Amino acid sequence: MPQAQIIDGRVFAEHLRGVVAAEVADLRAKHGLQPGLAVVLVGADAASEIYVRSKGEHSVAVGMHSLTHKLAADTPQAELLALIAALNADPLIHGILVQLPLPKGLDERAVLAAIDPEKDVDGLHVVNAGRLASGLPALTPCTPLGCMIMLRETLGDLTGKRAVVVGRSVLVGRPIAQLLLQADCTVTIAHSRTQDLPAVCREADILVAAVGRPQMIRADWVKPGAAVIDVGINRVPSRDPEKAAAGKTRVVGDVAFKEVSQVAGWITPVPGGVGLMTVACLLKNTVTAARRINGLTAA
Ligand code: NDP
Repeated sequence: MPQAQIIDGRVFAEHLRGVVAAEVADLRAKHGLQPGLAVVLVGADAASEIYVRSKGEHSVAVGMHSLTHKLAADTPQAELLALIAALNADPLIHGILVQLPLPKGLDERAVLAAIDPEKDVDGLHVVNAGRLASGLPALTPCTPLGCMIMLRETLGDLTGKRAVVVGRSVLVGRPIAQLLLQADCTVTIAHSRTQDLPAVCREADILVAAVGRPQMIRADWVKPGAAVIDVGINRVPSRDPEKAAAGKTRVVGDVAFKEVSQVAGWITPVPGGVGLMTVACLLKNTVTAARRINGLTAA
């Protein structure tokens, strides 16, 4: 049986962080400009704390100015909006990220809408979503951006390829579909109401799974030789029954990796694939925002 080539997120992310670090050094040396990223965490969700710490550490490591604001879970909406307004006005800050999900009682849409679109490095403001859908330059959500970088660098020109994206969320499915369309793919967006999903997936030269269902995509859903991008991050019980009984979990994707890698041409593992590119793309977006805000063209 053929074995798919692994698209190694670790290698891509390390390379991208190196590129960003060089760009930051260049901006500082030539323009006295240090890109700045502010991350806002509301509440004490354990997973969010880890993500936020990682974002802060990586932004410092590439030479950026990094700010983390930790607010209590019961922070009033007005206080959070006032902080965002202050960050919008802060000339040292070029990227603002509010870690999601927000605690109950806070209006996520209103909070995202309050971020200056020029500093919206998560790409979730409707202005950026609209610009992306219109084919205009936009700050693009980080996970989709990471998927596209890996696809382009692995496959080269994507023109004319059949792409199927399973999932239509604002955060992942829709922006990935837009980016694939911009790359001249023929794109199908599938979702929970799609009929005969396996047959739809089998049409794909590029199959992106962004569903949130552990190992849903099976080998017989995949066209031989296809590139399979697994965005899913799902916690399932540990394989070891004792550990599982103690509540230990492991992370799997939306794709049944072992069997699909017997059919696909390329595949991203979970962990070790798409997830690692997400933070690297956040850094890239912050540099892009800093350049645009200061009227500088891309390096
Ligand atoms: P959402 O729950 O917002 O969206 C899931 C999508 O999958 C929906 O469009 C839904 O369809 C569709 N769907 C659900 N069940 C089925 C099914 N049985 N058949 C077909 N389609 C289905 O999830 P996200 O987009 O936010 O995240 C998707 C996955 O990606 C999750 O595992 C998440 O943890 C992971 N993720 C990973 C990131 C990373 O950095 N690697 C970043 C962000 C997310 P419908 O719209 O009809 O309900």
